Amino acid sequence: MKVLVINSGSSSIKYRLFDMTDKTLMARGIIERIGISGSKLTHYREGGAEYRSGVEYRSEQEISDHGAAIGLIFAALTDAGHGAVKRAGEIDIIGHRVVHGGEIFSQPVLVDNIVKENIRQLAGLAPLHNPANLLGIEACERLIPGIRQVAVFDTAFHHTIPRRAYMYGIPYRYYEKYGIRKYGFHGTSHRYVSRRAAEMLGRPLKELKMISCHLGSGASITAVHGGCSVDTSMGFTPLEGVVMGTRSGDLDPAIVTFLMEKENLSPEEISGILNHRSGVFGLSGISSDFRDLDKAAADGNDMARLAMEVFVYRVRKYIGAYAAQLNGLDGLIFTAGLGENSPGIRSEICHGLDFLGISIDPEKNAIRGRETDISAPDSRVRILVIPTNEELMIADETLRALN
Ligand code: ADP
Repeated sequence: MKVLVINSGSSSIKYRLFDMTDKTLMARGIIERIGISGSKLTHYREGGAEYRSGVEYRSEQEISDHGAAIGLIFAALTDAGHGAVKRAGEIDIIGHRVVHGGEIFSQPVLVDNIVKENIRQLAGLAPLHNPANLLGIEACERLIPGIRQVAVFDTAFHHTIPRRAYMYGIPYRYYEKYGIRKYGFHGTSHRYVSRRAAEMLGRPLKELKMISCHLGSGASITAVHGGCSVDTSMGFTPLEGVVMGTRSGDLDPAIVTFLMEKENLSPEEISGILNHRSGVFGLSGISSDFRDLDKAAADGNDMARLAMEVFVYRVRKYIGAYAAQLNGLDGLIFTAGLGENSPGIRSEICHGLDFLGISIDPEKNAIRGRETDISAPDSRVRILVIPTNEELMIADETLRALN
């Protein structure tokens, strides 16, 4: 069974082709700058059983829209030199990442006209993402008529969050009128790492209490009980929660109206500040990338140090809160760019959490990007680094939708 996974953004499309009989990756790639000058495709065909060596293929050309981009992806996948299949018809099914499934979609679903219409209507909740996801689905439909497609929603994993955790303390009518509630994001990643964690620990997922920390340029923390999300730090939008690369995370809502008044800002302007010019970038004035902050802090830059301290402090607050909500903890998971690659940040986050039974082994922690149990022998909670694999999880979920 060959599954093509497509993650379609507003100006880029990432893709991976899997052979799900043994879950091997056959090819992967990205198209960047769709509809902008300097568009390019980077494609990589993996080596392995069928092809002895991998091949990289790059092409720079005008790619005017998502239809043209999907056309190029199929051309690359079926190319005689760098392709991974002989014809597009060998691909059995396509799984699409769709960011917002609202309250409608708690499971992956086979795409039909009703599903497409629902995704379109949910664009009000994810104006940057859902329309782009839909463009990807429709382009595939036009290019390979009749191909089966599945939508896998980022929000679906969080459908198990109880009402008391997803409601905000504002008049109930706004929930009824606009659907204002916590939805949560990064669900595919949290689902993937919590399953892997249970496998690594050799224990049934059903009996585990875990906290999953997805720390990338966007970051979210999720409490997972028995394999189900029971709370998560992102909310109605991905702006809530911990301080991120450029997003503010939690703040007193009065700050929003205060700033709008004082600085004479429109809703778009305040949203731009909170989403794109805040977080560790806004605090430090240097960068949203922790590698730059690390370097600046080592060179004595106090603002870089402050930004990292605020980030670590907020992550620890969520871990404490979720350990309390779970009434215990078996596993703490670190994943995504920073979680997988920064021993320093992992160690700072865990520092002083020994009262919860969280104790890191400094030597085991000195790894990057590899599945590792980094807990000290006496740590009651197992601390795990697990590289996320959202695309493989989407491929798994795509097959699940068929059953
Ligand atoms: P995205 O949300 O864009 O998918 P990623 O999961 O790729 O983000 O994470 C990107 C972030 O991970 C970077 O901004 C950087 O802060 C951090 N990161 C990646 N590699 C390292 C590293 N070696 N050391 C410290 N931080 C890293």
